[in-house]
Formats: sequence, structure tokens, C-alpha cells
Amino acid sequence: MFRFGPNLNFSLSSRVLNNTFNRNPNPSFSRFDSQFRFYATYKRFNNQKNSTGFSLEFFKDPKIQKRILVGGALFAAFYVYNLDQAPISNRRRCIWIPKFVELKLADITYRQILHLYDGKFLPDNHPYTRKIESIMKKIIKGIVRDENGEAKEIDWKVHVIHDPNVPPNAFVLPGGKIFVFTTIFPIAKNDDGLATILSHETAHQLARHTSENLSKKPLYSLLGIILYTITGSSFINDLFLKSIFLMPASREMETEADYIGLMIMSEGCFKIDEALKFWKRFKEFEDRSGVRSFEFLETHPASETRYGNIERWLPEARERQESVGCYSNQFLNFSSFNHGFDSFF
Ligand SMILES: [Zn+2]
Repeated sequence: MFRFGPNLNFSLSSRVLNNTFNRNPNPSFSRFDSQFRFYATYKRFNNQKNSTGFSLEFFKDPKIQKRILVGGALFAAFYVYNLDQAPISNRRRCIWIPKFVELKLADITYRQILHLYDGKFLPDNHPYTRKIESIMKKIIKGIVRDENGEAKEIDWKVHVIHDPNVPPNAFVLPGGKIFVFTTIFPIAKNDDGLATILSHETAHQLARHTSENLSKKPLYSLLGIILYTITGSSFINDLFLKSIFLMPASREMETEADYIGLMIMSEGCFKIDEALKFWKRFKEFEDRSGVRSFEFLETHPASETRYGNIERWLPEARERQESVGCYSNQFLNFSSFNHGFDSFF
């Protein structure tokens, strides 16, 4: 997602979505919370057994230690076997969720979203929808470093949702279903601003961030159980897991989507300086709306961080534009996508 995290919540419900739009950092983390909430949050201080009745002596048993070692070795082998490289950023991560499972789950979520926003979708021939589609086509056409040709094979579909009560947002589902809320249009301001958003969402899809998140969930659950046997406190576990694993991982994926997004935006010959301006406007929006967060416990990097990153990556993006010939015929490449959105509002 553009602001609320790339994770898909495949058991999407209206409650979860409501939480999302109340700026809950990440709906899937809410589910994660609830996984552990049924545990008691007290601890007996007898130094032997915690509230689960589980003794730490358990780990001193040589047989158990051997099993843990074998299990660890098997896990390491499984992890290495399933290592996958993200496009453009080349980051390696473990993804073991098969694509067909990812697509099936995404399809279920897609139907739920269509049902949830029924009556609020702009028609396909609406100027907003057509504009988003044309920008999206330009992005896909421009993607150069897509070794598997995946971007061009995906059946991309853009949905524009008009609901003035929903905060500015956009998100993508595996399978190429992109949702953009019209409330983000004034911040996007022009085609290149919209291209910033759409490129970011496309990057989430190309990097398979949803599958990466799903692949990690069993590990987080296991870690939660192990921690609980040690601490006996679900509160400490939640805080530890969120601050050490979940939030940084989510921020890493968001930053990666920003990076890949900027690179594919540059390959599409958009005005990449507009990405910087867009993030400036987004920060101003956050300041105006009073929504600020403490980055350490946030699923997204702070807007200042994103702004700084984009600024740092711009020279590389410009080089990329040169290499794909964006500057060879500037009039053709840049001029046709320079219409502002001001007239629409
Ligand atoms: Zn995102």
C-alpha cells in the first residue's frame, strides 16, 4: 500500500478496512496482535516456570538441543533453497509461497474489495480512470529491467474509488489489480505525481512483497511462541517482534518500493523530479492533517526519510533515463504527459 503498508490482509473485513482508514499502521499486524491477545499477560516470578507452566530446563535436555540443531539446519536449507532476488534492487529474500496460492488469495481479497466499495468505483470511461490507465500503460511499456517479462504478462487493472471520506491512499493486489482513491489526486497534482504513486504500487507487485510478507508469517508466529515460553508476556513479545522484525521489514519493503518505483518511473520517461515534489506535498498533507508518527514503530518510513532517499536516488534515475533514451527526443518523451489535475477539483 502506498501509505498503510504493502501487506495484504487476505481475510479482509470491513472492520480491518475501517482500522486501515483510521490510519492503523498495518491491518495485517492487527491480525498478528489478535493472534497473541488470547494469552494471559502476567508472569509468575518464580524463576522456574512462566505462566505457561513451561520450564526453561526443557532447553537443557541434550535430546531437545539436538532436535533444535537439526530443525535449525533444515530451516536454513529451506531458507537458502527459497531465496529469491527482487528485480532492480536485487535484494535477496526468502519467498516460499507458490504464486498460485498468492493469486488465489489475492482474488478472494479482490472480490471483497469490489463488494466493499460497490457503487463508489468510477466507470472505465471516466476521465480519471482513463488517465490512470494511460499512465499505467506508459509505466509498463517503459519497464526495461524485468528479466522475466512479468510486468508485461500481468493482467493489470486499475480501479479508481471516489469516496471523500477515505484518506489519500492507493494499493495493489497480486495479479496487478491497482486501487487508487481520488482523495490522493490533489496531492498527486499532475500526471507525474500520479506516476510516482502507480510506479510505487507496480514496484510492490514486481518485488512480490505480499508473498514475502506471507512467507514470514509462520516464522513470526513461531518466534512469538518461543518468546512467550521465555517471557510469559504477550505484551513484551508483541513489542519485541514489532520493533525488531515486523516494522523494520515493512519499512524496508516500502523503501524498496520507493526505489524500484523511481527507477521504473524513470524508465517510463516521466519527470522524476516530480517524485520529490510529490513527497514534499505528502509531508505537507501529513503536517496539515496532524498525522505524524514515530518512525521506529511505523510500518512506513517517515515522509522526510522518503524525501531524502528519493533525492539521493535521483542521479541514478537520471542515468537510467539517459540509458533508455528519454532525453534523445524530449518533446516526444516528456511533453505528452504534463497535464495538471487542478481543473478536476
Ligand atoms: Zn507501499
